[in-house]
Amino acid sequence: MKISTLHDLYIEELRDIYDAENQLVKALPQVSKAANNEELKNSIEEHLEQTKEHVNRLEKIFQNVGESPKGKKCAAMQGLLQEAKELLEEDIEPEVLDAGIIAAAQRVEHYEIAVYGTLVTYAKLLGNEEDADQLEQTLDEEKETDETLTDLAESSINVEASEEEEEGEEKGSRGRKGAAAK
Ligand code: FE
Ligand code: FE
Repeated sequence: MKISTLHDLYIEELRDIYDAENQLVKALPQVSKAANNEELKNSIEEHLEQTKEHVNRLEKIFQNVGESPKGKKCAAMQGLLQEAKELLEEDIEPEVLDAGIIAAAQRVEHYEIAVYGTLVTYAKLLGNEEDADQLEQTLDEEKETDETLTDLAESSINVEASEEEEEGEEKGSRGRKGAAAK
């Protein structure tokens, strides 16, 4: 498709995030299954339900503008999810894995926040207030999810992961002492 106008670019960006959201709907169940912390699991599952709604909202927007939502692959989301998948395949302590899942999930949210921020601006510039409201609602949910993940990281999960490190270090130092005593 030739992109001549801001409207064309708007449609292209909408298609990109539509594909990204659909990739997430497929990937999130796997991520929540891998998470160990119950709160983290729950917040991922909650965001999966929100993500399905993000897909619905986008479909309504495409209906309103009379365009097809299909036709673009979001390479960025593919890459972010590929990295998350690699993390899940690592030999990794459960607490540390949870910290890594939060890091991966926040990368995803920040990407989405950037895209939806742009889309809200374009919708307003194009005089489409109804779309702008819908997109802003999704933007707010992505931001809330990002904040929830930050809270989880700060309150417990990263702390548990850092304690994991201390235990590891203690074991290591005991080992070294043992070796020195010989
Ligand atoms: Fe989303
Ligand atoms: Fe999201």
